[in-house]
Amino acid sequence: RRSTSASKPCATPPETSGPLTPSAPSPAVELPLHTPLVWFRRDLRLHDHPALTAALEGGGRVIALYIHAPEEEAPWSPGAASHWWLHHSLAALDAELRLRGAQLVIARGPSLATLQSMAQATGATSVHWNRTYEPALIARDATIKSALRAAVLQGTVKNGSGDPFRVFTPFWRVCQGRLSEVGPPLPAPAKIRAARPPAGIALAALELLPQRRWDSGFAALWSPGEQGAHARLKEFLEDDAADYAEMRDRPDMAGTSRLAAHLHFGEISPRQVLAISAATLERDGARRGTESFLREVGWREFGHHLLYAFPHTTDQPMDVRYTHFQWRPDAALLRAWQRGQTGIPLVDAGMRELWHTGWMHNRVRMVAASFLIKNLQQPWLDGARWFHDTLVDADLASNTAGWQWTAGCGADAAPFYRIFNPVLQSERFDPARGYLRRWLPELARLPAEWLHRPFLAPAAVLAAAGVRLGQDYPVPLVDLAGSRDRALAAWQQIRTPAEAQPAPAARRRPTRR
Ligand code: FAD
Repeated sequence: RRSTSASKPCATPPETSGPLTPSAPSPAVELPLHTPLVWFRRDLRLHDHPALTAALEGGGRVIALYIHAPEEEAPWSPGAASHWWLHHSLAALDAELRLRGAQLVIARGPSLATLQSMAQATGATSVHWNRTYEPALIARDATIKSALRAAVLQGTVKNGSGDPFRVFTPFWRVCQGRLSEVGPPLPAPAKIRAARPPAGIALAALELLPQRRWDSGFAALWSPGEQGAHARLKEFLEDDAADYAEMRDRPDMAGTSRLAAHLHFGEISPRQVLAISAATLERDGARRGTESFLREVGWREFGHHLLYAFPHTTDQPMDVRYTHFQWRPDAALLRAWQRGQTGIPLVDAGMRELWHTGWMHNRVRMVAASFLIKNLQQPWLDGARWFHDTLVDADLASNTAGWQWTAGCGADAAPFYRIFNPVLQSERFDPARGYLRRWLPELARLPAEWLHRPFLAPAAVLAAAGVRLGQDYPVPLVDLAGSRDRALAAWQQIRTPAEAQPAPAARRRPTRR
């Protein structure tokens, strides 16, 4: 069996596949009867798919299977936006399989019972799948593996002491040093010798699409599926990669790749992203931007590395001191934040972008998360749950890392005292106010000077722009300076003496991310 990486180029060779029963003869011996079952999960693609390649190498007739079992991912079952993406991605995968002579069999879980009944119905002799790293899925897969008596292949990068990395830069340095071991992406099979498929259910029966059609804006923005993933990467590399390092922080520009959901569902593998980006790295003037982009893909790897090493961090802070942090849970504050009604323009613009498009710009994710955690003192987990439900790219590893980074309680996290000032952030990263005007139409007539801080605008300016604070647009939920001081006071209770807060000038330095 191959052990090349499917979803991570360097953190962990992820493929797991094995004989269904201990007595299953080797595929080489049993060629004519061999029926491998390929279990598609977060790898909804045909290119660079080690499990599919391994299944086909035996020369048997393949069955391609997807099992819907969201309850097995609890407490982090996929959210509504993720389900929207999944529906379209499964349809795209089925279309690709049909072009090659196979089809996707869709079934409902539980996964183990379904695998067993499908194997029995079809006479399948082996099950092949690529690994995932979420704790609930690792536990589920372990049960399935022992039930099916499968073999496990795994590995991971370690630091000099043999422990998992907790700091990104040395992790990424080691990964980069090992990229040559990763090997080129696997080609997609031109033709798939398919077995007669067992009875499955229709995709529509999974009811992944929302009944109240909040997804009206999604279709124009996203093209789930392997082809959509490749088209997105190509467009990004051609048009935006060269300027990525400068433009990646600008929410008013479409300067990032928007690949995250494609990567989450495995419609394209990180190994493919690396290989396809290689030519752009060599293009005149594009090296810096492309390296910066690949470094972000490295942060995704780091998130998975952390989740695999520290599975408890989905619900608990990596830095245990934060279990004693004094949160002030308040359902009304949380709801106002979720709805983009905080009275702080950059935060509200981001939360509305998220609701309408299923995506939010990274810079605004950091600002909106910081505002919820620090200014509103709401538990980071409440924010993580909302993102998990509303992002099309919701990903347990990256979301956990993003929230813990912002809260200051994660690995290689921003220190807690680095509290984003959302007014200064919008001044700096939305200089022409294009982002604010787009998402806050009720403020669009305000002059640029006041648009990012309407609560300080003179009454005459507000009146001339037709804005009644408290009616057309909320007054801020909290005073920014006062709430910042309150958050720092709460942090003082848990900080170590060595972790002194730097002088104010140093505090205003821009953060790396
Ligand atoms: P690009 O800027 O084009 O980056 C390329 C790829 O690198 C992305 O597609 C993504 O896979 C990866 N990447 C970029 N930035 C990061 C990062 N900071 N951490 C990890 N990987 C990164 N990303 C998710 O994929 N799913 C999440 O659920 C998620 N939740 C987040 C929550 C918070 C509070 C924060 C601060 C960040 C979160 N991120 C998450 C990371 C980041 O915001 C998104 O990956 C990025 O905005 C996706 O847009 P893009 O594809 O255009 O990224």
